[in-house]
Amino acid sequence: KQALLQVNNLKKHFYLGKGETLQAVDGITFHIYKGETFGIVGESGCGKSTAGRTIIGLYDRTEGEVIFKGKNIHTMNQKERYAFHRQMQMIFQDPYASLNPRSTVSEIISEPMEVHGMFANKQDQLKRVYQLLEDVGLHKDHANRYPHEFSGGQRQRIGIARALALDPEFIIADEPISALDVSVQAQVVNLLKRLQKEKGLTYLFIAHDLSMVKQISDRIGVMYLGHMVELTESDKLYNNPLHPYTRALLSAIPIPDPDVEDKRERIILEGELPSPINPPSGCVFRTRCPMAMDVCALEKPKWKEVHYHHYVACHLYDEQKTNGQDFTETAV
Ligand code: SF4
Ligand code: MG
Repeated sequence: KQALLQVNNLKKHFYLGKGETLQAVDGITFHIYKGETFGIVGESGCGKSTAGRTIIGLYDRTEGEVIFKGKNIHTMNQKERYAFHRQMQMIFQDPYASLNPRSTVSEIISEPMEVHGMFANKQDQLKRVYQLLEDVGLHKDHANRYPHEFSGGQRQRIGIARALALDPEFIIADEPISALDVSVQAQVVNLLKRLQKEKGLTYLFIAHDLSMVKQISDRIGVMYLGHMVELTESDKLYNNPLHPYTRALLSAIPIPDPDVEDKRERIILEGELPSPINPPSGCVFRTRCPMAMDVCALEKPKWKEVHYHHYVACHLYDEQKTNGQDFTETAV
């Protein structure tokens, strides 16, 4: 399998003045294969949206690199950057805030095509708008209407049509369904899945709801306070979560089958999410971790492949730190 995107030790810090630094993303490493859906999950404030925005170049990175199709996006020349902007697009959480209320649907979807000079002739561009509307389950009669005339789900479809306008290969969807009614969430997820098949798209799907991410993702990365703490295939993450934070997140999801008795212990995390301005020393999760040991305050756990294609950053999986005790098969 071929990696379409590679993210190496990516950091995004915001300097707030008075010597304060918000360490929104603090060194994440992962890759995304062509054609897959990679989910990033974590509580609000964990840095997942900032990671997405830094990867697409809306924010300058503080450190590390983003490599798309073998090219470092930070050292691209202008022509390469232009191509990159066509190939990577973003869908936002709030479809209303991201659509200009004074533009018609046709103008909204056409804008990126105009910026990139995709069509010389308005007729061809309009045909493309109609085609895109059809692709996302809307009608060409919708082209001359304004965003406020649509429901939340329809507005997200317009946002998706705009993201598809330049025929991208890679789409970052930042909580694309969290603002929608539960009844339409599944429709939008199904639309994204269908478009992925039809157009061979690769997705980075960002969300705070682990059960939602599982439905759509092939692999999942779990973020906590600017760090990626665990990463593996969706099934492995569910069946054998290794990081104490992932175990806590999963224990909060009810078992879908009502006939299966839920024997799992619900893990309640103590305390508040610490501030990314003053993150805890050592392991950032240690102030809330039920398994924390002395070493956790002193040393940052290394990102390590504990099982095949299963990465985790936690001292429990370093035998030298646990006197040889093995935690890798401990059930939730
Ligand atoms: Fe908990 Fe320590 Fe593992 Fe961090 S490194 S998750 S504090 S056991
Ligand atoms: Mg967010």
